[in-house]
Amino acid sequence: MHRLFIFGIDGGTLDVVRPLIARGLLPNLARVIETGASGELGSTFPPMTFPAFTTFMTGKNPGGHGVFDFFERIPGRYGVRFVNARSRRSRTLWRMLSEGGRRVAVIGFPVTYPPEPVSGVMISGFDAPGIGARADRTCFYPPQFYDELRAKVGDYIITPSVDMLRALEAPDEGLEAIVATIERKLAAALYTQERERWDCFAFMLIESDFAGHRYWRFYDPDSPHYRPDYPQALREGLPRVYSAIDAAFGRLWQNDPEAAVLIFSDHGFGGASTKTVFLNRFLQQQGLLEFVTGSKSSMGGWMRLQGRLTMAKLKDIGLHYTPERLRTPLLRSMKLGNKIESKIRFGGIDWRHTLAYSDESPYFPAIWINLQGREEAGVVSVDQYDAMCQRVSQALREWRDPDSGEPLVRRVYRREEIYHGEQVERAPDLLIDWNLDHGYSYLSGRSLEDSSGLAIRRLAPTEFASHEMATRGGSHRPNGLIMAAGGPFARGARVEGATLRDLAPIVLHCQGLPIPAEMEGQVPAGLFTPEFLRDHPLQHLAAGEYAAAHPLSEEPGDNYSDEEREIIERRLRDLGYL
Ligand SMILES: [Zn+2]
Repeated sequence: MHRLFIFGIDGGTLDVVRPLIARGLLPNLARVIETGASGELGSTFPPMTFPAFTTFMTGKNPGGHGVFDFFERIPGRYGVRFVNARSRRSRTLWRMLSEGGRRVAVIGFPVTYPPEPVSGVMISGFDAPGIGARADRTCFYPPQFYDELRAKVGDYIITPSVDMLRALEAPDEGLEAIVATIERKLAAALYTQERERWDCFAFMLIESDFAGHRYWRFYDPDSPHYRPDYPQALREGLPRVYSAIDAAFGRLWQNDPEAAVLIFSDHGFGGASTKTVFLNRFLQQQGLLEFVTGSKSSMGGWMRLQGRLTMAKLKDIGLHYTPERLRTPLLRSMKLGNKIESKIRFGGIDWRHTLAYSDESPYFPAIWINLQGREEAGVVSVDQYDAMCQRVSQALREWRDPDSGEPLVRRVYRREEIYHGEQVERAPDLLIDWNLDHGYSYLSGRSLEDSSGLAIRRLAPTEFASHEMATRGGSHRPNGLIMAAGGPFARGARVEGATLRDLAPIVLHCQGLPIPAEMEGQVPAGLFTPEFLRDHPLQHLAAGEYAAAHPLSEEPGDNYSDEEREIIERRLRDLGYL
């Protein structure tokens, strides 16, 4: 068994790491690459944080673990709710390590709220509520660890202070907030690491993802968002965050140099175009969807929707100027939560005349068929389902960028082509593999919030002036990274073709535990030294063997209180994911 230090870099990409190593800015990551094995790591499709980290933790595709997005549909309704660990239908690596007699410390991984009982400690990640981004007792396992950590190093911060990030007028302050959060998290991680000799110590930083969304446009001179008059401090924003992450990793590694290290990211990163698609508008133009506002006689519905949007904005502004200690009672008094999100996302559609519709997510919007029996007011019969999927797919494939004449969509997948397992039915019906616009990803906007009536258009620079839109300069890519060094890992090896699903088997094998057949990944060739594999051949468990020995007892329940939903909604909005 090798003790293992796992370090997650949200959205970390070699496309940034390599040039920054060449500039001497990432000495610790450079040393891991030199002394270990490294390469690209395939993400989930689409490459989104929640499904991707859940795939890392379970060794399964989203069809197996049930986490497809930040949101999941509320069955039988045109509504969504936020996802947390209760949406997961699979045991995690942390649980398996604990059940195998290993001591674990797990800090900051998304989709781990509420924290599960482990042999060791856990602090939940991004899906954890907590006023003012500070984790509370509910984010800790065991809960007493909250008191202990707080007494020793102060509050644990889930995300950078949203108020700081909102400082649109001063993006350099947002940068300070990100770097300060990394340092606060590092203090918590160092304390936890020194508390005992963990068999597996896992820590991740989500700040690289925030920085990618916000600072890519300053970093990349070829980005369509780039302006030559950007101040130097902002152009160096992304390098600065990567370098803070490298330093944090370095401190932890130095503190426990004997542990093997495994660094990975959940997906890669790249730049975004200024062109935005409005999928529901496109579906309307194809005769597949109608808006309530489509006929002039139904302006009432439109007005009501606008009213709700205004409410949501007012609430946001209200919270922004409310001192933190007063926010909890204020939040308690506002029971909007998922209802707002559902209205924004699916409001204004005339369901009786809609065959297919999109959630219009900002980055990887997907398509649902308005299916009878499943949807509240479904109109497409089960018999017509296949034909409808084909019709929508074909329309999407024929859709062209009016500037270049190039197809917008590379491929449209039926969900069964991408996912497999018991949870596939919770996925959207159609998933879109978008082409890039000269290397930059198309953005996705909400049709009802755009008055142009166009299904695709280039947004003017002024339209990126809002806080949310300022986060849209960068977007996810399918290729993340993996680096492993020390212990059983081969020196100087190049890892090829590895995916997130391979990480759980790697971790289990490293920790001397057998790999259950339900895990879909495998240990990549060349990652471990031949000597290690000779002395420690891979052990496998037959299907069902692990589950029979360690039954999962918890029943999935409803996921958040209204108050918690408010917090999560606000966080997602602040980060530009809504
Ligand atoms: Zn991510």
